Amino acid sequence: MPEEIRDPNRLVTTLEPAELARIEEEVQEIRACVPAWVWDGRSLPVPIDLIAREIYNLRVRVVSEEAMREAIGEDPDGHYGLSGLLICADGEIWVSKGELDYDWGSRRHRFTVGHELGHFVMHQSREPRIFCREIENGESETGEVDQNDPVPRPVPEAEANTFSAAMLMPIDQVRKRLSSNPADPVKDLQDYFGVNRKPALRRVETARILG
Ligand SMILES: [Zn+2]
Repeated sequence: MPEEIRDPNRLVTTLEPAELARIEEEVQEIRACVPAWVWDGRSLPVPIDLIAREIYNLRVRVVSEEAMREAIGEDPDGHYGLSGLLICADGEIWVSKGELDYDWGSRRHRFTVGHELGHFVMHQSREPRIFCREIENGESETGEVDQNDPVPRPVPEAEANTFSAAMLMPIDQVRKRLSSNPADPVKDLQDYFGVNRKPALRRVETARILG
């Protein structure tokens, strides 16, 4: 593998197909380990909070954005938006309380928990020990992006997003949905899995790449 692919600071809009496949495999292994009393492997939406707690002993806490900014040393009056934090030392995932007030909030909450869980599973050995999920351009008002072009992000962020989408939208169910040729595949996945538009869009692309 060329060295630049390993550089965690490299900005990407999409991961290499081999890496998408690796994350998919990792998520499949995790799903296989989830006992039926936590999740039956089919019911939707995927109970990601429960999986984080019961499988990884991570406590999901809903906290104010100010508390999150303080935890990472950001000016509480700044305009820096945060959806979530993973605090490895305390075994906690913090998720923005304010976002739950919106009708898209519970969908965003699940995606953010999945994103932080992705950091926990894939990046724990890497510095820093606190990972965050910033609000992405164009999604702060409605929980949605207003364009299709992906925003370049550091590799670990793209990996955590891919992990979360894979957890919340199991590939076998995604393939089944897409094989029925819905008029709007992205909207179909959004409604079916209870996710926002961007993760659904990402999942449709991933499913096409993985074949
Ligand atoms: Zn992140």
